[in-house]
Amino acid sequence: MFRQKLQQFMIGRYGVDQLGIFLTVTALICSLLASLLGLGILSVLATVLLVYSIFRMYSRNTTARYQENQKFMPYWRKISRFFLKIKHWFQQLQPKWRDRKTHRYFTCPTCQQTLRVPKGKGKIKISCPKCKTELIRKT
Ligand SMILES: [Zn+2]
Repeated sequence: MFRQKLQQFMIGRYGVDQLGIFLTVTALICSLLASLLGLGILSVLATVLLVYSIFRMYSRNTTARYQENQKFMPYWRKISRFFLKIKHWFQQLQPKWRDRKTHRYFTCPTCQQTLRVPKGKGKIKISCPKCKTELIRKT
């Protein structure tokens, strides 16, 4: 019943797009920061962003909303690339965290290669498999 009414209500209205998601998420972050830092201006900004995203969602001027979103798309792609980088970084971090009790990780000063050595061997000479640089480290 409610679903049908909602569907009828949404006919001819624009709905959610990438810009809409971005506005909503930014509004949530702003309101979170506002309550954490006690900054009133941020909660005003959050409200403005939220009202704008709701206005876009229920707007009947779909052409204008589509064009707005098209203008926003290059930024959206930049943002998603940024998040992909963060994801990649976390994936690299994962094995280091998993092996933190048994292994130590060093970075080769010459070629930036990651070197993984067992822990608890005292001071040892590590040679980089890639560029043969030798370094002495405590493990
Ligand atoms: Zn190296």
